Amino acid sequence: MAKTKRTWHPNFIKYMEEIIHHPNYKGLPIQKNKGHWIWIAPKNSPVGKQRLAWCQNKAIELNFPIQPGVYAKVMREIHPTKEKVCQTCGKSMSIYYFYPSTHLVKAIDKVFHKTYSETTHISKIWDDLLTFAPKQTVIDFFVNYAKLDLGNKPVSKENIIENMEFLCREKGGKCLGPGAMSNFPDRFDGFHTYNRCCRAKQDKGRSKDNLKSYTKDRRAFEYWSDGNIHAANCFMGSSRFAGTSADHIGPISLGFIHDPRYIRPMKSNENSSKRDRLLLKDIFTILDIEKKTKIFPMSWFSKEIWNNIKCHKDELTQNNIEQYQRILKQNRTNFMFILWQILERNKKLGRSFLVNTFLAPKMEHFNYSYTFDCDGNITQKKSRHKTERSSDEFKQLVQIAIKAIYDFQQKENRNLKNDLNNSELQAVEQLCQAISEKSLNAKTQFEQLMCNIQHRLLKKI
Ligand SMILES: [Zn+2]
Repeated sequence: MAKTKRTWHPNFIKYMEEIIHHPNYKGLPIQKNKGHWIWIAPKNSPVGKQRLAWCQNKAIELNFPIQPGVYAKVMREIHPTKEKVCQTCGKSMSIYYFYPSTHLVKAIDKVFHKTYSETTHISKIWDDLLTFAPKQTVIDFFVNYAKLDLGNKPVSKENIIENMEFLCREKGGKCLGPGAMSNFPDRFDGFHTYNRCCRAKQDKGRSKDNLKSYTKDRRAFEYWSDGNIHAANCFMGSSRFAGTSADHIGPISLGFIHDPRYIRPMKSNENSSKRDRLLLKDIFTILDIEKKTKIFPMSWFSKEIWNNIKCHKDELTQNNIEQYQRILKQNRTNFMFILWQILERNKKLGRSFLVNTFLAPKMEHFNYSYTFDCDGNITQKKSRHKTERSSDEFKQLVQIAIKAIYDFQQKENRNLKNDLNNSELQAVEQLCQAISEKSLNAKTQFEQLMCNIQHRLLKKI
């Protein structure tokens, strides 16, 4: 017993002391063994039975009817802070139903193109959505998703969240879950020792893997593509896309940029059949947008191929578009492979080279919130308030972008492989060397290498 306790987080030990000595728990049985409190008492043990009797009296005192679920209700009611500390990691979470289910996380991702954690408070998610999506869109989403009936209560964030929380806690609703599950009389305070944050680790049955593969591909492409990523995500979360899914006219999986001007609504069934196919009519739409907006549609590493397409635009057929599509895909795979090599050769300097050269310049876009016309042109740009959340944004972006490189490598190894020849592999070697020496030429070397690769691929056309 004592041995187990030593691995418990110090915050949890402190929390136990506070709860045990709090007047709300006066008379609730707990034993000691060699100076340590015995927090856990099985239902059928003598202490467990005494705890149940204590709780029933408490329920009568509180005028709660004795029926299934009453223990949880009592223990929630008397909890002095409504926040429980996790025994495993030491973080606090609410004992109320404020955290999104896997399904809700997916639904938000589908509509707003942003993935939140199942341990982020719904109120924080709401505020974050408002930084890029219109208020009415956010309200409509939650009211429809949870099938809320607010009666004559005003439609506000507070009332919507309160209503959802109640539905999930009392009426079997599934969109939100608690920070800690009820577990009385086994645990003195009536809640599982580990919180929602450490549930996946403790409870082997719940794996997050499905969720990961759901978003990781799109992410790999988003972060390493050119374009105004923040504006693109805001535009995709706007009411322009209500009831539809967003389509990159030029697929980002082929190297096109992630930018609002090249995104259009599309019925979801169309999008899934299109995937990363390049259609002749799309090429002409892209050429048209490029002419109007002067925004280059292709990321830097595929720029030569796009210029080549442009040179031959009068002789394009669906057949040679398919050839272009193949080499764009190969080029993209080669590019992702080189990013991975850069990280593999020198974890620290490789990472800081990639972050400073490609990700840091993107942060400028996150300083603003945007409004758009229906073609994704930015009509208004307002400075965003520097909240604590926005200062974490860069760290988060870097983490996801780096992880995306590894994820892509694992997956891509199963289908399309890089096709670098010996001299290109040697150039990768020299590039990694330059990065390790902090050479100022590293970026130019990388650009030159990508340029050479594209020209070799273009010979296949
Ligand atoms: Zn935890």
